[in-house]
Amino acid sequence: MKLDFKQMIESTHPQLLRLDKFSTLQINLGNRCNQKCGHCHVQAGPDGDKIMSPQVMTRIFDFLKTHPDLTVDMTGGCPELNPDFQFFIENLRQYTSKLIARTNLTIFFEPGLEWVPTWYAQNKVAIAASLPCYTQENVDNQRGEGVFDKSIKALKLLNRIGYGIDDDLQLNLVYNPGADFLPGPQEKLEADYRNELNTKYGVKFSNLFTITNAPIGRFRQFLEANGQLEYYLKLLADSFNPKIAEHIMCRNLISVDYKGVLYNCDFNQALDLPIINEKGGVLTIENLSDVLKAGVEIVTAEHCFCCTAGAGSSCTGSLVK
Ligand code: SF4
Ligand code: SF4
Repeated sequence: MKLDFKQMIESTHPQLLRLDKFSTLQINLGNRCNQKCGHCHVQAGPDGDKIMSPQVMTRIFDFLKTHPDLTVDMTGGCPELNPDFQFFIENLRQYTSKLIARTNLTIFFEPGLEWVPTWYAQNKVAIAASLPCYTQENVDNQRGEGVFDKSIKALKLLNRIGYGIDDDLQLNLVYNPGADFLPGPQEKLEADYRNELNTKYGVKFSNLFTITNAPIGRFRQFLEANGQLEYYLKLLADSFNPKIAEHIMCRNLISVDYKGVLYNCDFNQALDLPIINEKGGVLTIENLSDVLKAGVEIVTAEHCFCCTAGAGSSCTGSLVK
């Protein structure tokens, strides 16, 4: 029997599927990327053409003027491939000191982008960097040949400028499974990463975030191609953990797409499931102040079980704290 996430969560936590304490604005700057990873939920790649314009960025600044000190979490694609990325971050600094850039590390070696790591450090941008394993084989299988070596080179460069070493330069690594299984315990995996990366490469980092793959985008296509989709959906639903359900990230986060449209998270954005008003109208960043006053309902579907399976999952890792 197919399980309904909404029913499941409301049976244990009535009233849970609403925004609670808004603390993070996650902004997707576009779907262009120098990689084309097999698990990518936004199906990003070099041809990505959904790129946030300076006009939309300015609309975001207008919102942040009246909502200072939020965490602003920038993602993509590669946020660095948005041509107005520098303009965006330099203006954001007026409204918050809590900036996160989600980077794939290899982007630092693309022609013309070598300046980015030092500039991130100057702007005190926390880095969340994808590294789905500490072995070359697993990383290259998931993200493409040569990605592991470049990632290690980038991590060493980041360490040299203080990332992962100085308290104010956070370097967090992001793990996600290579196939149809849940992440192992975050604490244990973090210790393994720390040991392997330090011993073999002298690399240091701040924290490891474990993220469960959402059954959408290219990862869904991979599961379908291998006849594993039904198994994986059942695994997620069977692993529903009511104890961590109240911590799902959409209770604290709003996601904005390249046009300024609002979503409960980046997964909903990838599935085109926007936050809507009572008339079914799509809401944008201009509406966000009013939306926050009125309260935000969370739009759910079967992929939501990836957030509540086992130890739970969010953009900042496991939900077991
Ligand atoms: S997973 Fe990240 S690095 Fe890979 S294609 Fe998608 S956006 Fe690019
Ligand atoms: S997928 Fe998004 S909307 Fe669904 S539970 Fe997770 S964070 Fe919330």
